[in-house]
Amino acid sequence: MNAQANGPVLVINAGSSSLKYQLLVPGTGEVWAKGIVERIGETPEQGEAVADHGAAIQVMRRQIADAGIVLEDAGIVAVGHRVVHGGPDFSDPVLIDDAVVAAIEDLVPLAPLHNPGAIAGIRAARTRFADVPHVAVFDTAFFATLPTAARTYAIPRELAERHRIRRYGFHGTSHRYVSRAAADFLGRDVGSLNQIVLHLGNGASISAIRGGVAVDTSMGLTPLEGLVMGTRSGDVDPGLHLFFHYQLGMSVEQIDTTLNKLSGMKGLCGENDFRQIEARMDAGDEHAALAFDVYIHRLKHYVGSYLAVLGSVDVISFTAGVGENTVPVRAAALAGLEGLGIAVDAERNAVRSKEARVISTDDSPTTVLVVPTNEELDIARQAAALIA
Ligand code: ADP
Repeated sequence: MNAQANGPVLVINAGSSSLKYQLLVPGTGEVWAKGIVERIGETPEQGEAVADHGAAIQVMRRQIADAGIVLEDAGIVAVGHRVVHGGPDFSDPVLIDDAVVAAIEDLVPLAPLHNPGAIAGIRAARTRFADVPHVAVFDTAFFATLPTAARTYAIPRELAERHRIRRYGFHGTSHRYVSRAAADFLGRDVGSLNQIVLHLGNGASISAIRGGVAVDTSMGLTPLEGLVMGTRSGDVDPGLHLFFHYQLGMSVEQIDTTLNKLSGMKGLCGENDFRQIEARMDAGDEHAALAFDVYIHRLKHYVGSYLAVLGSVDVISFTAGVGENTVPVRAAALAGLEGLGIAVDAERNAVRSKEARVISTDDSPTTVLVVPTNEELDIARQAAALIA
């Protein structure tokens, strides 16, 4: 690695109304600064308005300067941008030029909620840091390897092809990072392991990974498919949309809001923070208990199906806010699977820590881990590797 490649990478995760950033060193993982600029484009009741993503970049610069670092003098080697949807063509990180920005723009119909924010962030950052290479890292890229059968919906083929309708998967950076970190932690070659990764945050997804290559995942064309999430329904009968519309007269917008924002744990018990859900279950709240049971039922369903997809599984890893912190979710998700070679140790599972750790019993044929995710570090590493 040359000297320049040891410098920090600025990682930017821009949404429509927020911009998260981290300035970190890919080699060591050392974080120099991190933060979030919120309410972009909104008129605040108090404080300063952040008119657009250009203004957000200025606020970010100022916040980082307050931490004692002048970005222009920090020796940044690359800016890494998280982009949610890479469509069918972006299966690797890519150096951003005008053509790449246009290609990401072309994918807006596939990710109308997510890609516009990323594009605004990229434009603003490229203007501000014109002399540094910018790299796009796509949330879908890790799942570009899904076998055709796993990524194809059983809908008219020509319609699907014409409109690029297929399963893409999301949270790919996290699934990639955690599967590699799990192998490193165990001192094993990622190519030798069959793994299942459960990324359980507010959004949630699960993946099956054979030898480091993703072969199945629960999110699809959009991040709505799959597991029960904080506010998203995950899998429902596709006929439910028709019922909502024809029987209840709901508009497309209402159906969208209902399934994306008002469903999941929130829809079932009015709460999507698992710390609160745990407390309410402890207090005997039956709605919280049902929500938990539905969440776990769906998780088990997917764990079982990915066992079948893989044939055998060496490692199962829990990650993200819920996966890293919510002890009863980990216990319940894998309870009763001893016959399939999966045994979680109750005491190990109850340990609270920020480090990767084993929670299975010593004689469990499948090793169960908690592995804290670090998408920013993975983006920084991928960006640094691309420009090296
Ligand atoms: P996001 O999908 O928003 O990135 P996270 O991975 O940060 O989500 O997960 C956030 C969720 O993790 C919270 O909504 C909450 O349900 C759950 N959680 C449980 N315990 C904790 C904890 N100790 N700290 C943070 N989040 C927790």
